[in-house]
Parts: sequence; structure tokens; C-alpha cells
Amino acid sequence: MNPRSKNKIRLYVDAVLTPDAVIELEPADSHYLCNVMRLSQGAALSCFNAACGEYDCRILEAGKKHCRVSVLAQIRKPMPAPDVWLLFAPLKKDKTDFVIEKAVELGVREIVPVITRNTISEKVKVERFAAQAKEAAEQCERTDVPVVHDAVRLEKLLREWPQERVLFFLDETLNAADCLPAFQACKGSPAALLVGPEGGFSPEERALLGSLTFVRGVALGPRILRAETAACAALAVWQAAAGDWNKGE
Ligand code: SAH
Repeated sequence: MNPRSKNKIRLYVDAVLTPDAVIELEPADSHYLCNVMRLSQGAALSCFNAACGEYDCRILEAGKKHCRVSVLAQIRKPMPAPDVWLLFAPLKKDKTDFVIEKAVELGVREIVPVITRNTISEKVKVERFAAQAKEAAEQCERTDVPVVHDAVRLEKLLREWPQERVLFFLDETLNAADCLPAFQACKGSPAALLVGPEGGFSPEERALLGSLTFVRGVALGPRILRAETAACAALAVWQAAAGDWNKGE
């Protein structure tokens, strides 16, 4: 069966999905299905999560706050996103929303908002980011939703870094360090991409990044990109070089 041709509505749920299970939806999802989309008993949808994959489902009981759903057959096996994290300095609201949505679509596993010296927005609304990540995952047919971490200061992040994960520092001053071969060379290793704020990294932050063995500075060509462009471009190149875009490999 081609899962794309079936149910239009996809919902991420925490519940365990198995054939014949009956699950109760969260109030927000119940509201969305029954009040916003006006679905009623018997309507088709699909539910998914990282552990169980995606299942064809039907509405059993359509309450405005409590909707019960019966689980039918599996239509997608779990497909975890490649092991790449996006670390970025939060931007103005619309741009941050854009980065989260595109990162989810491009296939990031975890998202870490990083507070740097020049970060303009220190009030990071992680719950809102997580809700956006869920919505984007529902829309783009992933079976997992990226984890969105609490915002962390750059120094703390680097102090506690898991050393086996390569941290690619997207650095606009490094014309000669093309990111493509660097990503290809680290294929198979857990990776993270660090994109700076609009004002770039401070000299102290650059010095700190330059002193760490797990950090590799890489560039995205000779032009200065906006932070949101850099985040999307870096992820796209990483996916093509070391991720799951090439299914044949
Ligand atoms: N240094 C500039 C621009 C910052 S651009 C300034 O002071 O305004 C914002 C972020 O996007 C940078 O910190 C960097 O991580 C990323 N970036 C932009 N252009 C890039 C390029 N050509 N290569 C790699 N990273 C880039």
C-alpha cells in the first residue's frame, strides 16, 4: 500500500501503536480533529511515532476534548532521521519558525537553540518550537519528531559536548574549507551543525571553537548567507553527502 495515497491527516501520538489498540488523543489533537477539521466517527487518519512507525486509524468516538481512535494496520515502519543535530542561535520570531520548520523537513534528529554573545533573542520559547516541530513532522511524512532542547549557552554546550559527535562550525570566514568533502569524510559518524547569529560569532567564541578537537570549521561557499539560509543549506548539503537522501547506498 502506498501510504501517501491514503489518509490526509497525520498525527504524532505518544501512545503505543499496535493493530487493534484503542488510543485516547491529547485534548489539543482532539480539538484539532473534531472542532477544526470537523471529523466525526469513522473518519480516517493516521497516527505515528518514532518507536512504532505509522498506522492507519479510524475515529471511534469524536468528543470535542477527548477523541478515541482505533488503530488498524501499520502503513510505515519506523524511519529514524539521520543522526544530525542542528545548533542555531535563535533569530527573530518568523525566522526562527522558518529554521525549525525547514530543519524538520530536511531531516534533523535534534534541535538545540544556542545562546551566543550576539544572539538577539534570549527569550526562547522551547514549547512553541516543539509544537512547530511536531506540526512540521506531521506535514512532511516523517515518523519521528525531532527533540527540541532547552536553550543553552555556547560555552556550556561545548563544555558538556559528547566528544564522539563531530561538531561542524559553519564559518563564513573560511573560504577554503568546503563543507562537502568534510561532511563526506565523516559519513557514518554522529554529527552536529552549528550556525551563528546574524552578527556572527564573537572573537572569543571563535577562539574557543578553534581550540576544540571535536570542532571542524566549514564554509558554504564565498558569499555571506543569512543565518536561516546557512542552516538550510548546511543541512541540505549534509543530507546529500552523509545522510539518507541517497537511498541506494
Ligand atoms: N559575520 C557576519 C555574518 C553572520 S551570518 C556578520 O558579522 O554579520 C550568520 C551565520 O551564518 C554565521 O555565523 C555562520 O554560522 C553562517 N554563515 C553565513 N554565511 C556562511 C558561509 N558562507 N559559510 C559558512 N557559514 C556561513
